[in-house]
Amino acid sequence: EAELRKQVQLAITEADLLIFMVDVMSGITDLDNSIAEMLRRTNKKTLLVINKVDNSYRFFDAQEFYKLGFKEVFPISSVNGSGTGDLLDTIVRNLPNTEDKLSDKGNIPRISFVGRPNAGKSTLINTLLGTERNIVTDIPGTTRDAIDTYYKKYGYNFIFVDTAGIRKKSKVQEDLEYYSVIRSIRAIEESDVSLLLLDATEGMRAQDLAIFDIIKKNHNGLIILVNKWDLISKDNTTMKEYTESILAKTAPFKDIPILFISALNKQRIFHILKIIEAVNTNKNKKISTSKLNSYLLPIIKTTPPPIVKDKRVNIKYISQLPSKKSVSFAFFCNRPQYIKDPYKRFLENRIREKYDFTGVPINIIMREK
Ligand code: GDP
Repeated sequence: EAELRKQVQLAITEADLLIFMVDVMSGITDLDNSIAEMLRRTNKKTLLVINKVDNSYRFFDAQEFYKLGFKEVFPISSVNGSGTGDLLDTIVRNLPNTEDKLSDKGNIPRISFVGRPNAGKSTLINTLLGTERNIVTDIPGTTRDAIDTYYKKYGYNFIFVDTAGIRKKSKVQEDLEYYSVIRSIRAIEESDVSLLLLDATEGMRAQDLAIFDIIKKNHNGLIILVNKWDLISKDNTTMKEYTESILAKTAPFKDIPILFISALNKQRIFHILKIIEAVNTNKNKKISTSKLNSYLLPIIKTTPPPIVKDKRVNIKYISQLPSKKSVSFAFFCNRPQYIKDPYKRFLENRIREKYDFTGVPINIIMREK
């Protein structure tokens, strides 16, 4: 209960509007009473929602909850939807005008922490935040599904995505593994830059590579954090060898920052923030069409795409697409289908040589012109 209270207090602090949900089938519990007391002490608006009111009999039972003393009460059924329309209307009416906030939020880089269970994600988040934000507990239903955390410290401004989900633990190992991948996919999709945590004592395994692939497919910025570096006995080549063994697996995408950290001992923790900022800058970088053409066209002239079936491909010009989601370069040419991956990689490498896109997957697209 103490942990639940902490969680409720956190929710109260972060919310604009509070929805207090109770269960008609259990009646008013002690916990309901103590949460109600906490809610009455805030000056934020609270809507009391009585759930599982699936039929008219239960509607009578719901009356009991008026005793809790909230002005706005909504008996609803989440299962069949009854009462939810009124509730939604009331929620919308009571939300503050967030247009400014939203556009502000739109520009703050969103960062996800992903990796296998026990890699050290929550330890790292807690180290970065400096306070205990997440509650670890085995009591079901006490972790909320998603909490984004604003990170405003040391001049940085980030949103850490889905920090609560990371804490969701299960006793069954398979469940945990499965859950962590599903969770990762969601967090990756909702973020701009992903931090992939590896356990240094285990190296990069199949499931880490699966998460890596999702990050790449989603065009997110990527930083690999080799955590628990304190547990590794090392000499002056260990880091280099470790780096090479990781990049052998991520190839051909090798322009990735790899940091060796200890979340537990707070080793190189603040360096992470600097690298997040740098990768995010790279992800938003736009190279003008004229610069791209004056750099790349001479290179293409010297090393043209291989001739296929006696046909030559002529690349006429190059332009970076104005996407916010991904870094993509379109090469306008005749016969785009004749350009194969090795030449695309050649082009990508030339771009990376000239411009800093560290940590960012690059899309090379051939377009018919
Ligand atoms: P999560 O499942 O990825 O959130 O992993 P946790 O943060 O819960 O960490 C799993 C275990 O690894 C815990 O026992 C941590 O104390 C431990 N741990 C996390 N980071 C480090 C580290 O840098 N060094 C060492 N030695 N242990 C760590």
